[in-house]
Amino acid sequence: MAHLYGLDAAGTRLAQTAASIAAEVAARHAEDVDRKGRFPKESVAALAEAGLFGLCLSPSVGGAGQAPRTFAAVAEELGQVCASTAMIYVMHVTAAQAIASATTLAGRDDLLRQIAAGKHLTTLALSERGSRSQFWAPVSKLVEQGTGYTTHAHKSWVTSANHADSYVSTAQRPGAASPLESTIYLIRRGSAGVRVAASFDGLGLRGNDSTAVEIEGLAVAKGDLISDLGAGATTKLEVILPWFSVGTAAMANGLCRAAVAATAKHLAGTGFEHTGTQLRDLPTLRARLARMSARTEQARALLGYTVAEMEHPSETTPLFVLQSRFASLEAAVDVTDGAMKACGGAAFSRQLGVERTFRDARAGWVMAPTADHLLEFVGRALTGLPLF
Ligand SMILES: Cc1cc2nc3c(=O)[nH]c(=O)nc-3n(C[C@H](O)[C@H](O)[C@H](O)COP(=O)(O)OP(=O)(O)OC[C@H]3O[C@@H](n4cnc5c(N)ncnc54)[C@H](O)[C@@H]3O)c2cc1C
Repeated sequence: MAHLYGLDAAGTRLAQTAASIAAEVAARHAEDVDRKGRFPKESVAALAEAGLFGLCLSPSVGGAGQAPRTFAAVAEELGQVCASTAMIYVMHVTAAQAIASATTLAGRDDLLRQIAAGKHLTTLALSERGSRSQFWAPVSKLVEQGTGYTTHAHKSWVTSANHADSYVSTAQRPGAASPLESTIYLIRRGSAGVRVAASFDGLGLRGNDSTAVEIEGLAVAKGDLISDLGAGATTKLEVILPWFSVGTAAMANGLCRAAVAATAKHLAGTGFEHTGTQLRDLPTLRARLARMSARTEQARALLGYTVAEMEHPSETTPLFVLQSRFASLEAAVDVTDGAMKACGGAAFSRQLGVERTFRDARAGWVMAPTADHLLEFVGRALTGLPLF
């Protein structure tokens, strides 16, 4: 059967590689990662080893040159088994795309080669304590100093904070009249003035190591800039937002598929001794499962359409990107909630793995652009208002 995301032979092979890593590595550790809230180092190492760190980078730097459709398929495979691994991977691929878009970053291609070789994990450090989920409006500022800049920032959430080799960060350009005049820059691991300030103990995605990072007096050289001064919003809207949206939508779709599969298995395999019937003999439960499956496939079909649009962009493409992320986030919250209800008390315990999908699915909803932001952006676009 054709893949819903329209993969070609190379994309299919890479998605199969991700499925094998999910089944053979991530599945073995996912429960422990969740229980201990520890980084899924085994699966991240397997992704690096398999060449998936450079999935969407150009072959000229050693990447696999894949389009968003393959990224979606890979993130969905990981999301079905270990959403923490999927999250780390989605942040990595998105940040790598931001780096690849840079025209100002010194040593950009060497860095991309390191990434493609699986030797460099990167991530996003956009959210700040002062502007919270409104990632388009950093309150931190670059201040001119010597031939470069210096900056202070309270980054509120950075996935892979303790493990990433670099962070793709943002601050206002020197002398900005508004926080929208932002710049994207790279922070390398070990830079003086950068401190991981907490450890992560969350409801879901417990292994994603997403925590606060304090930046005090960090020196930012001109060669560390990823966007031109003041051009950060363009990188955010044209690079980071689409890749992040595809990745997180796919991860949410993976959570839906896991919840549907676990529910179907439980309904078919569990019964009432006193009547000799199975849970699946109850029409209410069958209808609930069917609704969960329909929502999942709707979200997947919309993402499949969206990734095709992205290869031949038109003026409707940004709307599809936003709506697709929203549809997948909402489906994940509803479908995993349906799984909890259909599987009853059994879902309440850890043994089915359903409650983990329920907890993990909540995170996408509050990650910027949050579900509220997405609706606001779509509503503004449809009524002819500017996004900000
Ligand atoms: C597991 C996890 C991993 C994360 N990883 C990263 C990361 O790697 N890098 C990174 O930069 N950030 C990351 N984040 C942060 C994330 O992107 C958001 O910035 C964060 O979740 C916002 O939380 P908050 O309490 O500050 O929300 P608030 O901004 O306080 O929002 C509270 C509520 O108000 C709503 N709201 C806010 N502004 C608007 C608006 N303009 N219109 C309508 N509704 C609005 C929100 O939707 C939300 O429901 C992560 C978050 C989580 C949960």
